Amino acid sequence: MLAELSPQLTSEVTRAATLLQSAKRICILTGAGVSAESGIPTFRDKQTGLWEQYRAEDLASIDAFMRDPELVWSWYQWRRQLVHDKAPNPAHHAIAKWQQRAESQGQQVTLITQNVDDLHEQAGSTTTHLHGHLWRNRCSQCDRPYGDQSETVDKSTLSFDSELINCPHCDGYIRPDIVWFGEMLPTGAWQTAEDSAAHCEVFISIGTSSLVYPAAGLAQLAKSNGAKVIEINPNPTPNTLVDITLAEKAGMVMPHLVHKLNEE
Ligand code: NAD
Ligand code: ZN
Repeated sequence: MLAELSPQLTSEVTRAATLLQSAKRICILTGAGVSAESGIPTFRDKQTGLWEQYRAEDLASIDAFMRDPELVWSWYQWRRQLVHDKAPNPAHHAIAKWQQRAESQGQQVTLITQNVDDLHEQAGSTTTHLHGHLWRNRCSQCDRPYGDQSETVDKSTLSFDSELINCPHCDGYIRPDIVWFGEMLPTGAWQTAEDSAAHCEVFISIGTSSLVYPAAGLAQLAKSNGAKVIEINPNPTPNTLVDITLAEKAGMVMPHLVHKLNEE
């Protein structure tokens, strides 16, 4: 059963569906908001417990790791413990269902995420990660991958121990395979994102504050190449080039949108 939407939102969803129906290429960009309803806090949510005194932005950086690797590693181990049992919500499922169906009909739906969780993959989506993977590790010194590198790492065997691990090759510290503030995005992933933003007819931004560059520039790139822009976010964002705003939680509105697309 789908929850009821207001008449105004229903008509916006219909407009969005009409736009999407006629597009051959669609680019979706998701952010922390798409995982919020799965119980994974966004960076703008207040940190809890032990971590109240820190800002996420001050822990997610190479400088922080160099200064105090144990602190940063234990924060990530804590975050991993917090999210290891979280499951995809209706937004992840709707996107996956849509992506699979669209591709069987010759539409291209490229999903780009800023999230480091694997909930899109758990739901069955093919996903390009701009900011890395929470569940993967690599060496901070020689860059070699460390441990399980699969798409959806088996969480049941993981340890959330906060003790640092040393690389078996060079003895450097093992770090999460995440793009920290101030670091370059992975070249291949960024290329995919730029290509799909530049060549899409519709760009959809879901659950992102549009504050973190360069990802936030993808909507501009799409728009300047003639794409229409749809935004799904219950809160206002600084994104001024939006054609259709669906101001509601992603888990509420995405199933409606995909349902509408199936009808047309
Ligand atoms: P953000 O925290 O800056 O913004 C989240 C946005 O989601 C906000 O604009 C908020 O209004 C919106 N939102 C909240 N609940 C929503 C819902 N139910 N449906 C739709 N939208 C909702 O997140 P960001 O823009 O992704 O940028 C912050 C960086 O933090 C990212 O680059 C990411 O790497 C990292 N991060 C990732 C995760 C994760 O992987 N789940 C979680 C926290 C932070
Ligand atoms: Zn190493």
